[in-house]
Amino acid sequence: MDLAGTLAPERADFLRRLQNGTCSHGFIVEGPKGSGKKAFALWCASALLCESADKPCGACRSCRKVQGGHHPDVHLYGGGDKAITVGQVRDLIKETGWIPTDGEKNVFILENAQKMQAPAQNALLKVFEEPPAGVVIFLLTDSRRGLLPTVRSRGQTVRLSPMEPRDMEAKLKLMFPRVSQGELSAAVVYSRGSLGEAEEFLKRDAVMRREAAAEWLTVALDGDKYRLIGLLTASKHKRDTLLPLLDSFLQLLFDLLLEKSGGRAVLLTEEQREFYGNRATKRAIAAMCDVTITCRESLESNGNVTAVMTRLATGLWSAANERG
Ligand SMILES: [Zn+2]
Repeated sequence: MDLAGTLAPERADFLRRLQNGTCSHGFIVEGPKGSGKKAFALWCASALLCESADKPCGACRSCRKVQGGHHPDVHLYGGGDKAITVGQVRDLIKETGWIPTDGEKNVFILENAQKMQAPAQNALLKVFEEPPAGVVIFLLTDSRRGLLPTVRSRGQTVRLSPMEPRDMEAKLKLMFPRVSQGELSAAVVYSRGSLGEAEEFLKRDAVMRREAAAEWLTVALDGDKYRLIGLLTASKHKRDTLLPLLDSFLQLLFDLLLEKSGGRAVLLTEEQREFYGNRATKRAIAAMCDVTITCRESLESNGNVTAVMTRLATGLWSAANERG
């Protein structure tokens, strides 16, 4: 991870105070999912444990261990689905008494702190307010409101802002190079600054489109013309959602062509490989590609949605069921 990339000006100031020991030793890091709470806490841990003069360097042995999640003096709790229990808090309290193995600090990072039940939060209170020397504790949370008022009042809150739409779009573009501009924009708007939400949105949508595309092809190859027309002209389809769907359908056809030409398509399941492989000839697939590309162009240049999709359905059916 690029440590310098997380260094906004206000974080630099925070870091200075953290290293000087002129601020609290118990922090509540609040921000929406995907706003980089854990990255921020790890970055602080690197800054506290770094072996170079310019901390955090991101390159020394200690920084690499912190970022890799295996520094012996960085203790991580609550990363999974389950809330941190009272028993775990007791273990944590014991660990705060340990002498650091590598450096001079012991850093504790508690993820999903809002999920902790009241007894666990109460058990944490004392050590969070007054940790032993050299101990720094970070509570990571989507919302401070999930913490007891007594916990809230004992920690210094650091709020992480959601990502700027422009930064997020650039990042998503790198992560999902094949996703269309329309979908990227939708993901940015939908996620309201949370990169994690945007990622989920794009993945979920891509899966749904691939499933719909596979259904179209199955029905076309099964020879049920009217069911195919019904599927393609369903009222839920709008121009905006159809374009990416047609792209997924084309991707499926291209993958099949690749298979038929002796290559191996990564997106096809074993079942699809067998089912489509037996039913569709190379010529039929190529003809389906042609009609899909033509209809996609009509849709893009504002052709009537129902008319274009009906034409696509009959065109696909003819291509799939052409004999001889
Ligand atoms: Zn370092």
